[in-house]
Amino acid sequence: MAKSHQGRVFVPRNGLLRAEQAAWKCIERCCAKLELHGPPMPIPIDEWIETALDIRFGVGDLSHLGDDVLGAAFVRDREILVSERILEHNGRFRFTCAHELGHVLLHQKHAAVFHETRELPHLEATKLERQADRFAAAILMPLNLMEQTILAICDEEQLDLEFCLTEMMMPTVESEWLWRAIFLPRLTRQFGVSKTAAVIRCGDLRLISDPSRSFLPLRFRDRLLERATDLNLRLIRIIGGRPAVISHTAERKTYTGG
Ligand SMILES: [Zn+2]
Repeated sequence: MAKSHQGRVFVPRNGLLRAEQAAWKCIERCCAKLELHGPPMPIPIDEWIETALDIRFGVGDLSHLGDDVLGAAFVRDREILVSERILEHNGRFRFTCAHELGHVLLHQKHAAVFHETRELPHLEATKLERQADRFAAAILMPLNLMEQTILAICDEEQLDLEFCLTEMMMPTVESEWLWRAIFLPRLTRQFGVSKTAAVIRCGDLRLISDPSRSFLPLRFRDRLLERATDLNLRLIRIIGGRPAVISHTAERKTYTGG
């Protein structure tokens, strides 16, 4: 098992360290309790809440707690409830479980009960809600495992690692294609998270070698959650380990075989 949450290529942006450490500590605790050598992927968050952390957990109708309540954390009673309404949205369900766990582990001194009535994660939340979101992102997408996965994807797709990591930080069409076609589909599947959660998490990562810039360009944060509009995206192929826009003529040749 990795000795810490830290990676060799990525660091979290400033202000996230506490959530990263708390999440990794929780993962270590669960692995020790369940005698696992390392965390499985995706992290079995709902199972761990019950079996490894001894927190009561239930899924059901939460309408008695108020309109549109999707999740609740009873901090003092160590109980987490998640609405059955989000059960079929795997990413949202898992993020809500992890968010409530964040409240139970981090916010004992702040409140006895937390209710969620909004979709998670959210960019404009209060301080405690932001902390719970960060904890959720860090436990579902641990930094060192994100790093391993991103490097493995480059390897499997025979991508030029150094070139791609730099390209992905720029708001270019090649970068957009790498995120859309290669990285986001793999990351969401591997970590069992929604595209929104993966985009926000990648936006919070920094390359150790270039910590002043976001790994996922801020300009992409909303764009990647919408349908692709740039027609050049369908003209991109990997050539020599690098994404490149092929010419329209080359595309015609590819499709007609002529
Ligand atoms: Zn909350």
